[in-house]
This record gives sequence, C-alpha cells and structure tokens, in this order.
Amino acid sequence: MHDDEKTTPTPLLGLSTEELRALVQEEGETAYRGGQLARWLYQHGVRTFEEMSNLPEAFRVRLQDKYRVGRGHVVVCQRSKDGTVKLLLQMADGARVETVGLPYPDRISCCVSTQVGCPIGCAFCATGSSGYTRNLTAGEIVDQVLSVQQSMQGAPAQSGSGPYRVDHVVFMGMGEPLLNYDATVKAIQLLNVEFGIAMRQLTVSTVGFVPGIRRLAQEKPQFTLAVSLHAPTDDLRRRLIPEMTRWGVADIIEACREYVRQTGRRVTFEYCLLENVNDAPAEAGELSRVLHGLNCHVNLIACNPVPGLGFRAPSRERVRAFREVLEDAGIPVTQRLERGSDIDAACGQLRRRATGAGASDSLS
Ligand code: SF4
Repeated sequence: MHDDEKTTPTPLLGLSTEELRALVQEEGETAYRGGQLARWLYQHGVRTFEEMSNLPEAFRVRLQDKYRVGRGHVVVCQRSKDGTVKLLLQMADGARVETVGLPYPDRISCCVSTQVGCPIGCAFCATGSSGYTRNLTAGEIVDQVLSVQQSMQGAPAQSGSGPYRVDHVVFMGMGEPLLNYDATVKAIQLLNVEFGIAMRQLTVSTVGFVPGIRRLAQEKPQFTLAVSLHAPTDDLRRRLIPEMTRWGVADIIEACREYVRQTGRRVTFEYCLLENVNDAPAEAGELSRVLHGLNCHVNLIACNPVPGLGFRAPSRERVRAFREVLEDAGIPVTQRLERGSDIDAACGQLRRRATGAGASDSLS
C-alpha cells in the first residue's frame, strides 16, 4: 500500500499555499513551512512525506499521523508512437479516471477528468456508456497533471519553462466540469497559482450546462470556455446527448452570447464529426446560422470511434466540405489533429477495457 493510501483523513494535495500556511500554523509550526509543503506538492510532485527532506522529521511524522499527501497511483500507462501518454489513475477509494498527456514541439498539454464516469451519457462516448460514480476533488484533478508530467520523461522539452512541465491543461476528459463547478474552479486556481500555468492556457469544456455557463458569465474567470455542441439542432442533440435535453441549442447559444458580452472573451465550440450523423453540409449551414454574429471559433474533431457504439469518423473530403461551409460564412475553424491512434485514445476506452480485463496490465 502506498503511504498516501492510508486511511488518514485529509489529503494535502488540493490546498493552496495560503491554506497550507494556515494548516501548519494550527499544528504549531511557522507559516513558512506551509510554503515548503506547497513546493513539495506542486513543484516536486512528491508522493510521500519522507521525500520532504527539508522538513523536520518530527513534523513529518506528525503530518503523517493526520494527513496524507493525496496522490493517486498509476494503474495503467499507455504510450503512443507519437508521444501521447494515457494514464489510468486510481484514487484512494479505488475510483479510477483517465488522463492524457500530449507532447507538442512547443508545449505539453494535459487533458484532465473532473468526474469518475459521467452522468451525461453522450451516445458516442465510452465514458458516457460506463455510468457515473462521483465528482473528483480539486486535488484529484491536479494530481492528474502531476502524474502526466512525471510520465512524460523522454517527451520533447518545450522552450521557456524547462523540461517536462505541463503548460496547457484542457478539462475535457471524463465528466462534465460545470457539474463539478467548485472543484473545477479550485483546480484552475491551483494550476494557475501553484503550477504557474497561464490562465489563457487553461480550457474548460462543457457539453452545454447552461446554469454553469451563466455562472461563468457572472464570475468572469479568465480561462478559456469551450462548449461541446456536436449538433446544430435540438433533434440531433437529443439523439447524441440524451441527458442534456433540458436546454436547447438556442438556450446554450444565448448563454454563450451572455458570456461573451460579460467577459469580452471568445467561446470555442467543439464539434465531433460523426459520419452520416452530423457531418453533412446542411448541418454545417445550420451551425453557421446558429453561430452567426457570435464571437467564437469552431474546433472540428473527427470522431474517434469506440467499438460497439456504432459511429464512424467521416472521410477527409467530408470534413473539408463541412469546414468550407463554416469558413464561407466567416466562422474561424480549427481542426484537432488525431493523436494516440495506436492506444485507447478515446475518452473512457482505457478505463472500460482495464475494468473489463481486471487491470491485469498494471504498470505501477
Ligand atoms: S463526451 Fe464528455 S460529457 Fe459526453 S459522456 Fe463523454 S465525458 Fe461525458
């Protein structure tokens, strides 16, 4: 058993430097020790108190009696030929989530999960078909970034911030982040302040949870908002995202217009292209109409097919035709490159397979 899996009650990962300073003062130590703790947690990514070598031994023993570090452990690590790393992490209670590291020549990006499973149940998603267990804590979210960072030895070092530092994080893994709003926002703050990742390099992706978008419009955080629309009409969205029918496309777009008005920030719309489902020029035309006049851009993602769910990726020609309709309407479009095609890259696939296989391929 790892040190941080003992049944001591409170994980320290997830607390800010200020909160750690207050905590150590309650333990009779100077606030300075809180700053040291924060550096061990977020800069060094330690897993045990023993590694915190500049803390007095007696203090480490006291900490260990009452707290745990809060790191999960890696159950499965898959590495793609293109450098993509996909991890299955197990939390202290046995819950498992996926996280992905994506090395690029100029940066390392990490895609984190915010929930164990997902209550939304998108028809094309392996996570959605596996049910929902619970929300993750902020500590469990940032733990994914540390684990990706530590698994990326050998990835190309980016310029500026030193080797193997994740410097972009997208909240686009398992779960709907805005259904776990407080932990998501707390994790964003930790990534910004404790990890030093710029706000504009943090992106939260929602499937269109309107109360959450409206709350963001009021609170005006500086991270990037992405909305996974996937369909320009209510009928099609109902088919693809059956648990998110309370708000129609018009409600989502209106909430986004409010967000843009209040924050002055552009919204990204994610659109997963599914062959002969939502990828026809007619749907592209309808999408252009729906987004007309909104400060946004569209990110097209060719479906990463999950066996048994019955969806396929469209041909390049169909993707190009869809893209051209949007661009002709003046909407900026990007296209996400396929990564990790030789591993279980689609969200939820690795967890589903590992659970079915009893996780016998544990690497930890
Ligand atoms: S695509 Fe995202 S929101 Fe939809 S079921 Fe999968 S994890 Fe949940």
